[in-house]
Amino acid sequence: MKKIFPFVLLCLMAFSFWGFRALHPIQFPDKIALYESHNRYKEPLLKERRFKHADIVPLLNALPAAYRLKVVGKSVEGRNIYSATMGNGPVSVLLWSQMHGDEPTATMALFDIFRFMQRHDEFDGFRDQILSKLTIHVVPMLNPDGAERYTRRNVQDIDINRDAQRLQTPEGNILKAIRDSVQADWGFNLHDQSRYYAAGNVPKTAAISFLAPAFDEAKTMSEKRSDAARLIGVMNKTIQEIIPGSVGKYDDTFEPRAFGDNIQKWGTRTILIETGALPGDPEKQELRRINYTAILTALSAIADESYKNMPVSEYDGIPFNNSNAFHDLLLREIQLPTLRGKFFVSDLAYRNDEVQLADNRSFYLSSKISELGDLSTFFAYNDKNLNGYKAKMGKVYPTILADFAAAKSLDVATLLSQGITYIQVTNFKKSKEIMNFPLHIIQPNTNVPKEFKIGLNPSFVLEKEGKIQYAVVNGTLHDLGKLAVSK
Ligand SMILES: [Zn+2]
Repeated sequence: MKKIFPFVLLCLMAFSFWGFRALHPIQFPDKIALYESHNRYKEPLLKERRFKHADIVPLLNALPAAYRLKVVGKSVEGRNIYSATMGNGPVSVLLWSQMHGDEPTATMALFDIFRFMQRHDEFDGFRDQILSKLTIHVVPMLNPDGAERYTRRNVQDIDINRDAQRLQTPEGNILKAIRDSVQADWGFNLHDQSRYYAAGNVPKTAAISFLAPAFDEAKTMSEKRSDAARLIGVMNKTIQEIIPGSVGKYDDTFEPRAFGDNIQKWGTRTILIETGALPGDPEKQELRRINYTAILTALSAIADESYKNMPVSEYDGIPFNNSNAFHDLLLREIQLPTLRGKFFVSDLAYRNDEVQLADNRSFYLSSKISELGDLSTFFAYNDKNLNGYKAKMGKVYPTILADFAAAKSLDVATLLSQGITYIQVTNFKKSKEIMNFPLHIIQPNTNVPKEFKIGLNPSFVLEKEGKIQYAVVNGTLHDLGKLAVSK
């Protein structure tokens, strides 16, 4: 008895741990092993978001013959649009990315998956199952002309994702034609969403949002749409382990012109994956890894049909995106001045726009006041309570300097501690370095903002008990104590 009892207890513990898995054989191999494998397969030539068609064509042409590379059509400007096909199984899966030219995260992940699928190692069983059960058609970068400029729309200035019915874009026609020709059982519509969405009413960004798009106004849950929802449940379980609480559900309003909604209507189990943002991942390389993990997990769950064991309630439990929830900088409970010299208590938020340089590859951030007043319902990447601090508009340094090099030789902390935030420079071009500099570089005689108003970008200092402690320059908060130390 004494010896058997611990054994029984051990068995019970083991069952409670493994039992769930045995009843729901959802993951093969371990999802975390897949996530951790990413560095080994990651396409090293895609490093940042603003890659172009010319960057991916050599990668496509280097794919082994087993990928059955095809030109499926041309963009408005004549760039080839490709499909690559893997596997020989009876289930047809179609994945397309970058229908919006400035939404490239999943494209990078698709190239990582190409590299993953052609290797031979401990994941061979996993690959074999996928390739024997599925035929996977991949269209990376459906909108190469938009990618060239890093814009959402194609060069007709049409949003391809509002062209599923009228089909007046060559890119939209290509997608419709390939969906019809392969009679896709499953469709993956791969996008990027705003960096300002939260995953529900929580201070967590919607790093990934999913949707099984509706195919009618009533948002009917057909058998096939339910399958799509179950598969999203599988991906959600995996992704929640990596980024807990950062998964959202995209707005499920029926959009009669959008591809996801129509492809669902045409009989393909359709899944929208929207990549948002994660703090500290500006080029979305961690999110690319999460896409890789989510897509491979999904392909595996289609191949072994384990998605059927996932209840739709898992999908229903994903919180809807809380759009417009995040700001880049949020200063709480500061004192803002009026033009008459009085002060009022307000929160103050800034958001940054990426301003692209002429090469269409580099950019700088330009900031604007995005909201003020009571912002207690909002969140931010940089969120700070500065109760009791008074905002004072920055002053302009009286001497006009020749160039940015001269500005860099100034004693930044001392100038800011005197309330000076603007430096007039005769010769400069806006760049990342200049816009990140803790003094705001302006042309001589620029009219700098005199008020705290939405849409303006005032640089200012924050003072408490007669001492200036912080400065906000181009939407970035600087602690003068730390600036002085780093000097
Ligand atoms: Zn999009």
